[in-house]
Amino acid sequence: MDSVKSSSSQLDGLIPYDPKYLPAKYIMSANENPLDVPLDVRLEIEQAIRDVAFNRYPDPLANELRDMIAEANGLSREWVLLGNGGDQLLFDTAMAWGGPGRTFLNLPPTFSVYAANARLTNTEVVDIERIQNRNWAIDEEAVLAALADQAKPIDFVIIGSPNNPTGELADARFVERVLESTDALVMVDEAYFEFSRSSVLPYLERHKNLVILRTFSKAYSLAGVRIGYILAHPAVITEYIKVRQPYSVDAVSQAIAKTVYRNRAAFEDRVDAIISERDRVTDALCDIPGIKAYPSDSNWILFAIDNASAAWEYLYSQGVLVRDFSASAGIEGTLRVSIGTKEQNDAFLQAIRDFAINNA
Ligand SMILES: *Cc1c(COP(=O)(O)O)cnc(C)c1O
Repeated sequence: MDSVKSSSSQLDGLIPYDPKYLPAKYIMSANENPLDVPLDVRLEIEQAIRDVAFNRYPDPLANELRDMIAEANGLSREWVLLGNGGDQLLFDTAMAWGGPGRTFLNLPPTFSVYAANARLTNTEVVDIERIQNRNWAIDEEAVLAALADQAKPIDFVIIGSPNNPTGELADARFVERVLESTDALVMVDEAYFEFSRSSVLPYLERHKNLVILRTFSKAYSLAGVRIGYILAHPAVITEYIKVRQPYSVDAVSQAIAKTVYRNRAAFEDRVDAIISERDRVTDALCDIPGIKAYPSDSNWILFAIDNASAAWEYLYSQGVLVRDFSASAGIEGTLRVSIGTKEQNDAFLQAIRDFAINNA
């Protein structure tokens, strides 16, 4: 046969997620940790991998890792579920709480994966835009009104906190009001909570509808390994287990993640350094005429600049790869720079200053 039936209609016109990876001297585009896992931890990882039986299926639920994460959060293992990166758990959220006839409340501009997953699962999306001139604050009253609207019941909502790419935390008291006002599933995406040092974990035991998403990809330098997790009520975890691919977290990733988590104190100084560099880069950007930098609670900075796509090109010509949102809906004219090492940040600042001065 030299033809094939068309794929499912929800794929019509869908553009595959493209992280826009390009080779560059200074990679500052994907909010990764600029440093790899510390050398002594890597040596421990090599030892741990040596003991993995490659011929055996992994523990489907990664119970040892589950126990470690549970203990660190004052929970028991039934409250924790691992995934193949946080991304898998985002997809599983749409699989389990979305679907035909169901509705997802989205708060754009935000992580584009949320809406893409809704579309893949034929879930209707209700958008409540963030308020640009209040540093992308959530339109709290509009969100509460949407959740109270009986004509269109919401099945789940995802709140990025800090929100990627705009950078700000959700107000914890607002999250609590949301949890109290609805029985919709409320996922708080805390992929960057190590940098904001803030979590809605204290609300977990009182709110069965709260799911907290986290990842090893950012603070723990494991973007290449694919480990994320959720914290939620055991009854909610059970629903996720129904849709989850049973062996999605492989044995090698489990061994690596256990070693890193046991050594997580070794990452604290690095997180501190990123936070102080973030503040330094924000201040420096604010001093450049023609740039508006949005405040960030995370490890990146979103900024608006005239001729943003030309700015992206110039940065790239200088070896600096940042994320181009110049043509993205709701955040037109912006770029996002992930905080790197001091050297990387200086290279970025030098290049963006040159561009701004030459284009003034
Ligand atoms: C990076 C990220 C995640 C999780 O990424 P994984 O690498 O799949 O764990 C989740 N949400 C947001 C907003 C992110 O930026």
